Amino acid sequence: MQISANFDGGNIEVINQDNIDDVQLAIRPDQGGEFFQWFNFKLQGTVGQRYTLNIINAGSASYTKGWEDYQAAATYDRQQWFRLPTRYQDGTLTIEVELDCDAIQIAYFAPYSYERHQDLLSAVQVHPLVSLEHLGLTLDERDITLVKVGNGDEDKANIWITARQHPGETMAEWLVEGLLNNLLDSDSPTAKALLDKANFYIVPNMNPDGSVRGHLRTNAVGVNLNREWQTPSLEKSPEVYHVVNKMKETGVDLYYDVHGDEGLPYVFLAGCEGVPSYSDDMAKLQDKFVNALLMASADFQNEFGYDKDEPGKANLTVASNWVADTFGCLSNTLEMPFKDNANMLDPMSGWSPERSIYLGEASLLAMLVVINDIK
Ligand code: ZN
Repeated sequence: MQISANFDGGNIEVINQDNIDDVQLAIRPDQGGEFFQWFNFKLQGTVGQRYTLNIINAGSASYTKGWEDYQAAATYDRQQWFRLPTRYQDGTLTIEVELDCDAIQIAYFAPYSYERHQDLLSAVQVHPLVSLEHLGLTLDERDITLVKVGNGDEDKANIWITARQHPGETMAEWLVEGLLNNLLDSDSPTAKALLDKANFYIVPNMNPDGSVRGHLRTNAVGVNLNREWQTPSLEKSPEVYHVVNKMKETGVDLYYDVHGDEGLPYVFLAGCEGVPSYSDDMAKLQDKFVNALLMASADFQNEFGYDKDEPGKANLTVASNWVADTFGCLSNTLEMPFKDNANMLDPMSGWSPERSIYLGEASLLAMLVVINDIK
């Protein structure tokens, strides 16, 4: 048996593999050691053989609630991802595998590789309405790339979308792929109507360094980008620094920051009720957007989510709060599950790239409903 994670986004350490009924593994923490939960590795073995994989440091991971009722994702062909029997007990996450082929890839969620990220950027740039802008470099000297869609007309609303501030939340970039494909489909009436009234500024991957390094939550120097928006710096958080500068240049009329949540088995929005400038008008607009998304996607719900901040008590270092307060605009964090949508279970795949892609399309529809209200 061979276990390896030395590839783009890979993460696992082999502690002991002498016994296939108790293969002991550990997740390597993000730089700085504060966070870990993301794993992504390949196991090559014998077809028909059963392996019991124990992640022995799961009990000290960032979100141990994330392991409850969680099933690990796996693939043989690196196209179709399915779930493996998984249980969490006494601080150990146990994954059972019986090999149908020689090699299987197992991950916390279906990865969105850096190569696929490059493919996405290359695919969209051939569209006449798209231009790519290099905003700057990360600390590992990767590109921070902005996808601009639309003619930049100043009379139009400016819609900003960012994904993967937390690099292990790969469903966020799957969602952006679905959203972009729909937005650039010349037969999509939603896209046509939106592009008539809006310019889009989309950062499909806010944290390429963390993505390639196999981090859960931070960049190359262990910084959580979603706590940097008030005081971004070139030393700690160039990813946010460059995006903030560009936002100040374009202005923002709607912001959508896409994430995944380890614990909650639901799709939900976190709004900006706690920012100092929050108004009755903003609350009405938020309600309209929430109701539109409820209509647009049966995967979305508004019953379960985070507690709303008390008025004036929002953490302004968080992207969606900072944008809401700075630009006085409709601003949301979208959360998708790592597990599954408990209202609509799919035991085979759980929450998946495909469902994230559909939610990206649905998100555009909800944006269209509020397009005349946001500017
Ligand atoms: Zn997140």
